[in-house]
Order: sequence, then structure tokens, then C-alpha cells
Amino acid sequence: MRFILVGPPGAGKGTQAVHLATHFGIPHISTGDIFRLNLKNGTPLGLQAKGFMDKGELVPDSVTNEMVADRLTHPDVQAGFLLDGYPRTTAQAEFLKSALTAMNSPLDAVLEMTIDNSEIVKRLSGRRTCRGCGKIYPAAQPSCDSCGGELYQRDDDKEEVIQRRLEVYADQTAPIVGFYRNEGLLRTISALGSVDEVAGRAISALSK
Ligand code: AMP
Repeated sequence: MRFILVGPPGAGKGTQAVHLATHFGIPHISTGDIFRLNLKNGTPLGLQAKGFMDKGELVPDSVTNEMVADRLTHPDVQAGFLLDGYPRTTAQAEFLKSALTAMNSPLDAVLEMTIDNSEIVKRLSGRRTCRGCGKIYPAAQPSCDSCGGELYQRDDDKEEVIQRRLEVYADQTAPIVGFYRNEGLLRTISALGSVDEVAGRAISALSK
């Protein structure tokens, strides 16, 4: 199974991706997680991405596409993959299409998660992320129950940056929904409800 998750920041893509990757036995490839790992390790890629991430802007397509193309050469993607947070522009979607065509591994589906902006702001400003493993929690959680790591608020989950991320989503990412609708790959579900409810909806949409 090869598919991508599309939806605004705060739709719960990262949380669902963990469930869905386990369910389908495929790697979860999150461009945001790869950038954050590079940032934490102080790599040149991390330093290049930092300025864009801090402002809620997209890292340039050339940098992001190269990083994804490299990830797609790892042997684990032979089992399939789930892309989370990529593509985020029509140019990235076009790049991915040619990369996958060259690999003879076209996408099976694109799952769109929909949610209102007011709910997004509530979710993002209240969420905390584990420094160790990246798992997401509500603000009241004291520490990570998976790895014991410290929880922190991502700089880009602060209210002023959230608004910019929403604008960027509407301007640059929402158009890819039409791109994939035209390709006949789009399945849309509501992102509202408990993690298990949304996962159930996602699995049944992907199994059609
Ligand atoms: P995320 O964790 O998916 O919300 O991503 C966090 C940040 O990483 C984004 O706000 C962007 O700055 C950057 N980023 C992640 N994925 C991409 C992408 N596909 N294209 C450009 N920038 C990205």
C-alpha cells in the first residue's frame, strides 16, 4: 500500500499516520519529522530548514524534494509507504508523481482529512510534542508515556505561527487536493472524533 495523508496542520495526520503505518505494516515518512530530526542533530539540512519552519513557511521545494527522493531509495519502501506532510505544493506533487513513475510504484490512494480552522487553532495551541520520539499529547500530559521523554510546545505551534501555517496551507497546499481528485486517487474523511474513530474511518476509506 502506497498512500499519502493530506490535511491542514492539526488535522491529526501525524497521530493517524502512526496507527495506519502499523495497521498496513509500512514505513511512516513524515517530512516534518525528518526536518525536526535534522534540526535537533544540527545538520546542514536542519539549519537550512530552521528559518522557514520557525516562521511557519514551507521549506523550498528543491530541498524537500531531494530529501524525499533520497528517503524513497531506502529498502523499506518496497513494502509500501505512507507519506505524511508531503507533498505540500503542486510542484512537489508533480515531482512525486514522476519519481514514483520512474520507480514503477504509483500511489494507491490519497487520504484527505478535513477539519474547521477554529478547531485547528484549539488543537495546535494545546498540543505538546515529545522531544524523544515525537509523539503528540494534550497540554496536561506530564511526560511521554512511550519513551519517558520531555514534552515541549513546538515553536510553530504558538498562536501567531499557527495563523501563518493555515494561510500557507490554504494558498499552497489545498490545491493538491484538486490535483489528486483529477488523478482519481482522493478519499476524504472527517478528522473530528476520537483517534480510534478517525482511524476506523481512514481504514475503511483506504480499503475501498
Ligand atoms: P509538519 O510537522 O508536517 O507540520 O511540518 C513542520 C514544518 O516543516 C512545516 O511548517 C514546514 O516548515 C516544514 N515542512 C514539512 N514538510 C514540508 C514540505 N512537504 N514542504 C515544505 N516544507 C515542509
